[in-house]
Amino acid sequence: MGISRILIANRGEIALRIHRAAHEMGIETVAVHSTADADAMHVRLADHAVCIGPPAARESYLNVAAIISAAEISHADAIHPGYGFLSENAKFAEIVEAHDIAWIGPKPEHIRTMGDKVEAKRTAGALGLPLVPGSDGAISDPVEAAKIAEEIGYPVIIKAASGGGGRGMKVCNGPDDLATLMQQAGNEAKAAFGDATVYLEKYLGNPRHIEFQVFGDGKGNAIHLGERDCSLQRRHQKVLEEAPSPVISTDDRMRMGEICAQAMRDMAYRGAGTIEFLWEGGEFYFIEMNTRLQVEHPVTEAITGVDLVREQIRIAEGRPLSVAQEDLRFTGHSIECRINAEDPFTFTPSPGKVDYFHASGGMHVRVDSGLYAGYSVPPYYDSMIAKLIVYGRTREGCLMRLRRALEEMVIEGVKTNIPLHQELIRQDDVVNGDYSIKWLEEWLAKRAG
Ligand code: ADP
Repeated sequence: MGISRILIANRGEIALRIHRAAHEMGIETVAVHSTADADAMHVRLADHAVCIGPPAARESYLNVAAIISAAEISHADAIHPGYGFLSENAKFAEIVEAHDIAWIGPKPEHIRTMGDKVEAKRTAGALGLPLVPGSDGAISDPVEAAKIAEEIGYPVIIKAASGGGGRGMKVCNGPDDLATLMQQAGNEAKAAFGDATVYLEKYLGNPRHIEFQVFGDGKGNAIHLGERDCSLQRRHQKVLEEAPSPVISTDDRMRMGEICAQAMRDMAYRGAGTIEFLWEGGEFYFIEMNTRLQVEHPVTEAITGVDLVREQIRIAEGRPLSVAQEDLRFTGHSIECRINAEDPFTFTPSPGKVDYFHASGGMHVRVDSGLYAGYSVPPYYDSMIAKLIVYGRTREGCLMRLRRALEEMVIEGVKTNIPLHQELIRQDDVVNGDYSIKWLEEWLAKRAG
């Protein structure tokens, strides 16, 4: 089925990203927006635009009835959800398909399975992915939990089955606190996600976050596009991502990538997905799978030359994958910096009017952003206002280009974390690729003295 008009159920840079891929394929776009985003770039560029509600996301970008109505009145024949908002809402995907609108995303049943972390872990294990040792599924009995914790060894981490965004996790260092922490984690999970189910896992001391990009056609064919290293995080939020990882060997990439691709073939997975691992002592441990496009997808595009959004649209049209595994080449190095409207060192959000904006340019420099001079960054949504993605033939060259590109970018009127990135990429550990998921917070703490 050919798609001729895509409704983009998102905002900001990712809405632009999708619009660009669609237009390059000769497909029209429909933007949806809240009243706070009437002047946003994604609304200006789209062929059609529909206001779907007031600023609060739950009344606009999460408003299923308003989005489906917008698709109906604008005669959109497909919906792309971007990331965040409704992208991993299986019910929404089902409603879209029930309205005979193509869903540019995975099959709803796969979104549902991977959205429940206990179910996801069970499925991943059955598909042959290596797991973090832990409880076999959900656990509620503290005596049983103590037995398992003893077996796998302390520290352990208690995680919420419905958790997300790094919330609902408790680290437990010994048997004395286990029952109390389980109770607390359950209560917090109940309050945040409406589900008190928790499970237990070995807590890894100093891992890296390594994720594999996968793609399936929904009919049993699937490929992997290598890994991304997203270890530089603050409060479980990624700050800078790179591909390839400075520590993963070609052999490990191809071996683990193939295990991931095979798992997707066995599931007959459709569309883009990311399989996330912690990596420690040379071993991979599955933590979760994201059934959508990721913020950091451009670093994979840079080193493979594959347009991942175009690929998503093709697959939603029922066409085959445009590239075979054996034809994929990983060339050079790419790094992405997430540019946020916030104080670079206190991290206080800094919404408001952008008086001046100059995007970096030049060879192998990509800026994905909806910013323009005169634009007001609204206070209602995520603080990320731009992504700077740089490519180089070597990691060293990539870092040099990134320095140059960060120097060039000017954003006046709101505070941004550009100074943080400038300092970060000059640190020896970052230059040497020698960092774990703990590194950034430890460095920030030292820096604050
Ligand atoms: P969420 O869906 O909330 O992002 P994840 O399972 O992806 O939850 O975990 C988020 C982050 O929490 C990981 O990137 C890692 O930093 C940390 N984490 C999760 N599980 C473990 C573990 N078993 N040991 C150590 N750190 C962990």
